[in-house]
Amino acid sequence: MLYNSTENKKEVVSAARAIAQGISSEGGLFVPCDFPAYDKSVFENLCKMSYNERAKKILGDFLSDFTAEEIAQCVDSAYTAEKFESDNPAPLKAETFDGKEMNILELWHGPTSAFKDMALQILPHLLTKSLQKTGDGKDAVILVATSGDTGKAALEGFKDVDHTKIIVFYPVDGVSPMQKKQMNTQEGSNVNVCAIEGNFDDAQTGVKKIFTTEEIIEKLDKNNMLFSSANSINWGRLLPQIVYYISAYCDMVNSGKIAMGDKINIVVPTGNFGNILAAYYGYCMGMPVNKFICASNSNNVLTDFINTGVYDKNRDFYTTVSPSMDILVSSNLERLLYKLSGNDDVKTAQWIKELKTTGKYTVDDEVKSQIQKLFYGGYCDDTATKETIGKMYKENNYLCDTHTAVAVNVYGKFVDETGDKTPCVLASTASPYKFSRAVMEAVSGNKDLPEDDFAIVDMLKELTNTQVPKPLMAIKDKKVRFEDVVKSENMAGYVLNVLGVE
Ligand SMILES: *Cc1c(COP(=O)(O)O)cnc(C)c1O
Repeated sequence: MLYNSTENKKEVVSAARAIAQGISSEGGLFVPCDFPAYDKSVFENLCKMSYNERAKKILGDFLSDFTAEEIAQCVDSAYTAEKFESDNPAPLKAETFDGKEMNILELWHGPTSAFKDMALQILPHLLTKSLQKTGDGKDAVILVATSGDTGKAALEGFKDVDHTKIIVFYPVDGVSPMQKKQMNTQEGSNVNVCAIEGNFDDAQTGVKKIFTTEEIIEKLDKNNMLFSSANSINWGRLLPQIVYYISAYCDMVNSGKIAMGDKINIVVPTGNFGNILAAYYGYCMGMPVNKFICASNSNNVLTDFINTGVYDKNRDFYTTVSPSMDILVSSNLERLLYKLSGNDDVKTAQWIKELKTTGKYTVDDEVKSQIQKLFYGGYCDDTATKETIGKMYKENNYLCDTHTAVAVNVYGKFVDETGDKTPCVLASTASPYKFSRAVMEAVSGNKDLPEDDFAIVDMLKELTNTQVPKPLMAIKDKKVRFEDVVKSENMAGYVLNVLGVE
């Protein structure tokens, strides 16, 4: 299977090259030239398998330049019961809330308590193997822009991995204290963490710019290094995410919630459009889906886009209680536009160029009508998010985090508006303990909480009698290792300095 760039169809590369390089040379994103087609019999076989077996089958179909043995090594090192609390890293929990049934796909049982672990525990394995195949013999420098969760998950995945170095940038006021402490205390000899003065989009733009600056690439090359990306623009991030949606579909069949071939709805709390895109790619392979429900917080640029066909990032940026979704430029939307425009690289490149120059683009009617056929966009603000957490806990004794609550809230609106009762899978993206302050406020009604986030974790545990993820408890006593803050225009200099490259 080969991959091409969304902005230049002529740039065709192997899977290993797509993963090693992260982003195409002209700035486009790598996508499969074709998708494997799964019919009923493939799904029936998948139903009989464990999570890891399903992952091996699906990854194998996309990574045709990897041997079955290599893929098995990657999968079995990533998804262990030790790292994910059980043999099934992505369990489904059925809950009925406000009269609506939902199957909550808990994706946060990994080492950093957010769904990013599902991809970032396996990406370092895929990447080191890709680097061996592409024969560069170079060390990979992973640059990450994070709105909070990617950074920690990437640091944890790449720490002390041979032939890799990782530098993470996060917006100085844009992450929760818990997220900050998770990153600043990171262990490992090949890791670096730096705050930037700006928001997530500034961090992401800065990283993208470094990746595509010829002069910097040459400097690294001379020092036997190359850039790669652990952001969801990297194909190696997206691919493992397809697995859990297909796996959830199989679990729905196995539990008798649906019959084989029945459609499901999929609800995803969305930021960079990576997670929901993975679900859509599952649909492209044959997974029966009726609607994708794209849930946003007050940074509702995607809601407006789905409703109008106009993507306009020229708007106020809000810092919300669901910080991992505080994003105005959803990078992975580019991949959807490419697919829905019939693999039109010229059109896609034009829209992305308009976004860069004017902050805005309008898709044609054809693409717009296709988006509206498949996607529903909705959003809710912080007040509604907290209300949802509080009610969900009261009604169901189920504690959900702020991002998941946005999805639950928007799903409620969707059912109320459309009456659509198609069985639904709702992606739950973080442990409630990762966002303890807002969650504690929501379930206790107490706005006067202590300064110290770890004290709040204890209160939440006491009040709800739920378990705190062990790795979150452990960072309490860890030493802060990284305190750098730079202006976003100085990111490139910072990177060269850390790498010791002149
Ligand atoms: C990253 C993240 C999201 C958004 O996912 P995208 O793939 O960027 O759309 C939602 N919730 C949590 C907890 C996250 O960490």
